[in-house]
Amino acid sequence: MPSLNLLIEKRKQTEKSLKQPAGILVVKDQDEIVIQKLDKSILTIGRSSSDDIILRSKGVSRCHASIYASKGKLWIVDGNLKGKVSTNGLFVNGKRISVHQLKPYDVINFPKEVYALYLTQQHVAEAADGVEKLTRLLASFIADNHKNDNPLEYPSSAQQKTKHTFINVARIPFLDSLTKLPNRDSFFARVKKILEFRQKVKPDHNFAVLFVDVDRFKMINDSLGHLAGDKFLIQLAERLQSCMREGDMVARLGGDEFAILLDELHSPDEAIDIAKRLQQSIIKPLTIESHELYPSVSIGIALSTLGYKTVEEIIRDADTAMYHAKNTGRSRFVVFDIEMHKKAMHLLRLDGDLRRAIEKKQLQLYYQPIISLTERRLVGFEALLRWNHPENGLMSPDLFIPLAEETNLIHQIGQWVIEEACLQLAAWKLNRHIETAMTMNINISSKQLTEKNLAKRLVETVEKCGISPKEIKLEVTESILMENTQHSLKVLNHLKQAGFQFGIDDFGTGYSSLSYLNRFPIDTLKVDRSFISKLDQSNNNTCIDITHSIISLAHSLGVKVVAEGVERLYHLAWLQQQKCDYGQGFLFSKPLAAEDATHFAEQGVRWPWPC
Ligand code: C2E
Ligand code: CA
Ligand code: CA
Repeated sequence: MPSLNLLIEKRKQTEKSLKQPAGILVVKDQDEIVIQKLDKSILTIGRSSSDDIILRSKGVSRCHASIYASKGKLWIVDGNLKGKVSTNGLFVNGKRISVHQLKPYDVINFPKEVYALYLTQQHVAEAADGVEKLTRLLASFIADNHKNDNPLEYPSSAQQKTKHTFINVARIPFLDSLTKLPNRDSFFARVKKILEFRQKVKPDHNFAVLFVDVDRFKMINDSLGHLAGDKFLIQLAERLQSCMREGDMVARLGGDEFAILLDELHSPDEAIDIAKRLQQSIIKPLTIESHELYPSVSIGIALSTLGYKTVEEIIRDADTAMYHAKNTGRSRFVVFDIEMHKKAMHLLRLDGDLRRAIEKKQLQLYYQPIISLTERRLVGFEALLRWNHPENGLMSPDLFIPLAEETNLIHQIGQWVIEEACLQLAAWKLNRHIETAMTMNINISSKQLTEKNLAKRLVETVEKCGISPKEIKLEVTESILMENTQHSLKVLNHLKQAGFQFGIDDFGTGYSSLSYLNRFPIDTLKVDRSFISKLDQSNNNTCIDITHSIISLAHSLGVKVVAEGVERLYHLAWLQQQKCDYGQGFLFSKPLAAEDATHFAEQGVRWPWPC
């Protein structure tokens, strides 16, 4: 699920930000403002010509201060790092310091009129005009204080002034430059205050955070261009704002993501009513550059009643709920509950485990026989993945393939499956107790088709194993063919030309159109087991009719049919009567571990055929 991706992405971002502390110093030196990027591990400030920031004001020592990065934090020290202190001392927020860990908005005072303000890189990036504002503010603070030129005896009034200014600086509302809505920082600061108020003053003060994400925004950007995308976001921001009550806050977090704070709620229903109102107001058509657009948003709601301690937690949960809204059909809202969190955490753990599963040799292939119903013999196996999880036991692919697809692990896993299945087929070919010629069916997910080297690696793998591409049948779902992306089709055609066979899996569950056969030659079609399992229900003529039609249609196009989920003799008898080519299911055998599958192949099929 995407919320997991988000957690992983956030984890990566946190790791990255720990490794790379960055920021800027806004320095006032005489009548100049210097904006210096802090992107080195050690940065020196003083009057020496070798210093990174060379100050011109008299009274500053040659090596006055150094800023260094250590363990993800920035520190400022008086003097140089060899222990030589400056002549006039160093002050941060009015206090003399020898070492100090820099925090955003710290005001550093060198001697005389030299002041600096520390800001993080994020502040700079998110508030394009913020720096200018801060520079102006710093300048006005300096103008007020520049008469005091004896920093060693910092007068108490000036100290208060420093403190006062510090708070003022922190309060500057940072606006998003595009929509002019408050930005992420302002939003976080506001929610933080309300959380503190709830914790310390009024425990029954309830509020909600809404995470709002525009549906299919990428499509607008891609088709109409970024300028139109910007105009769209501006209008959307206005609509969001128009639905707010007094005291609520709408902020743009970045891209097409917005956050809303609904303060002083009397009940959770109030948040739900507002979310409904928002969605109704959003869906009215918008005209951008003479194109009529129908916007919609997905909303996740997190309620303060869950007792959040930090802003990050409440926003994370609103975000998770938003992904649930997206995943369950878009243009909806979902209220976060604890179960969602548990599920996300469970998937996060599972993802970590799965990353190690290959090297720990926990993945295993099972093989399910495929039987020719006309020749009554074994014609091959389908390779089906299992994960031997140390705590959960043998896990079905349905429980982890979707996760692997989402986190892109499917590429690695898929390659492992291909190699393992090819090696197994090669071993069977060398086994002189197995007489019949067989194919190996391998499931390929749509994500795998986006790989650049899939075709090349498949060709290399079969060559390496000494088998021929025509002995491998790649099972793809209908949706892959229907999506018809240029790249996928290119890969499929390349593989087809190389001699690989193709089968459509789960036929009947998706688009169920054979029009793609014109574009792409398919060897077999596998009727989904949901149809086969209902064949013997006397009141279910639809399934009988559909299966019958699929078989005759496929045959008229020269495509062979496999029936999946053949569990009962009745199914077999009916399928034989319909001249269905192949069968696969528990009636013949469940998927088997390699050794048992070998045994099965050595035995051949002895089956009491009903007719
Ligand atoms: P699928 O490709 O449709 O595979 C058939 C599934 O039906 C298998 O479940 C199989 O055990 C089950 N099955 C076979 N015969 C019967 C029967 O008679 N009755 C019933 N009730 N079930 C039967 P399995 O092994 O759990 O696999 C589930 C899905 O996981 C597969 O569905 C496939 O979509 C995916 N999968 C499995 N292995 C791989 C893999 O290596 N790569 C990828 N991308 N997907 C895989
Ligand atoms: Ca399959
Ligand atoms: Ca299937």
